[in-house]
Amino acid sequence: MNVSRRSILALPALALFPAPALALAASTVDMEGVLKAAQWDPAKADSAVTAGAGPSVKLVEKALSDRGLLDAAYVDGHFGTRTVAAYAQWQRELGYSGIDASGLPGKTSLTKLGLTLTRIVSVGARSTYQGFPVNARTLAMLRAAQTRSGITFVVEQGSYSPGADPTSAGTHDGGGALDLDAEALTAARRTAAVTALRQVGFAAWLRTPAQGDWPLHIHAVAISDTDLAASAQKQVGAYYEGRNGLANNGADDGPRVSKVTYEEYLRSL
Ligand SMILES: [Zn+2]
Repeated sequence: MNVSRRSILALPALALFPAPALALAASTVDMEGVLKAAQWDPAKADSAVTAGAGPSVKLVEKALSDRGLLDAAYVDGHFGTRTVAAYAQWQRELGYSGIDASGLPGKTSLTKLGLTLTRIVSVGARSTYQGFPVNARTLAMLRAAQTRSGITFVVEQGSYSPGADPTSAGTHDGGGALDLDAEALTAARRTAAVTALRQVGFAAWLRTPAQGDWPLHIHAVAISDTDLAASAQKQVGAYYEGRNGLANNGADDGPRVSKVTYEEYLRSL
């Protein structure tokens, strides 16, 4: 009864105000900025806005708020945990689940919010590399790091591998995640490898047996991969905050490298 009553009441309102959707479409959302904020902002101690991303995040938050998914108080340009939860709800309403409903915006869900996009990030097709699942963007990044460092990487674990490694807290369930062998490299080459991976847009760390139940390896997460698992998103946020991405939230012990996405790296060449 309530439902039909509400629909009858809603119809005249829609007929009277058809313009707002058109007005919103005139504003353009920087998808790269929104993605960076969605990974970084939840890791911040405050509600600081990610540089360059604020206006685009606000447009996304306004669209979520207009659909009753986000309290208007959080339409502030900071893509924090409330916005992540609201975005995940939006993705579930579109019928997505798992890594497709992680709260990290993708092109389809942003477009279906009625937003016009620029700087669209695409992870490309999935394939395998050295026998491990990987997407085209991650593979291009790995090859770029290989060229920069002169090191031929040996993959020990890939992406899209739910449950493949219980010690990794699900970071390899989605896209963008790689484990690379470090035991065969000298200490200097390990640092060179992590440096090159960071320079092309990975959040990458050397992981030692003292830190967990694993062999010495390099764990790398492609920043702004739209298929990142929730735990991998958190690691990217930790990376931006200068942490190690482990449960102890320790200080980043890796090489100091300017933090960039792959798209930012490509534009810098
Ligand atoms: Zn890993």
